Amino acid sequence: MGAARSERTHGNSGFTTLDQLQADLEVLRDPTLTDDDKRSLEAPKLVGLFCQGCGECLDPCLQRLPIPDLMRSFMYAHAYRNRPAAQALLLELGLPDSPCGDCDECPVRCAKGFDVRQRVRDIVRLREVPRSSWYEQGSCGGAGRVAGGRRAG
Ligand code: SF4
Ligand code: SF4
Repeated sequence: MGAARSERTHGNSGFTTLDQLQADLEVLRDPTLTDDDKRSLEAPKLVGLFCQGCGECLDPCLQRLPIPDLMRSFMYAHAYRNRPAAQALLLELGLPDSPCGDCDECPVRCAKGFDVRQRVRDIVRLREVPRSSWYEQGSCGGAGRVAGGRRAG
């Protein structure tokens, strides 16, 4: 019942049919939270993962990395837990072999206080993960949610 109930909860933000109304009324009759519901309620904790796309990091970066895109990939992996989308974005970016690997000091100061170098070093490791492992690990959830995601920079 959990998955079906979660789909009703998140899929119907407005009613256009009586079936949709009925589905939401069923949720009201059984307000027990599923695991997906609990994760949604934890979303405010994830605010620190959202790059605002201001671009202030771009000029100072010594390797001219597409940092807003890298932060978006980081968000896909850590907020949406969608590692395939995160990896696909990374592979599109044409990154150097060792992003952030050659800088002794990082002059980038993120407007949101992200430790950009640490996040970049963390996320680029996903490039090396075989795609087949996503299915073994069950890491493919949420692809639809980010498929239409807007580029941050
Ligand atoms: S450590 Fe990374 S983010 Fe900082 S300047 Fe170097 S390449 Fe750019
Ligand atoms: S400075 Fe920070 S918030 Fe702004 S685009 Fe760069 S990573 Fe994102």
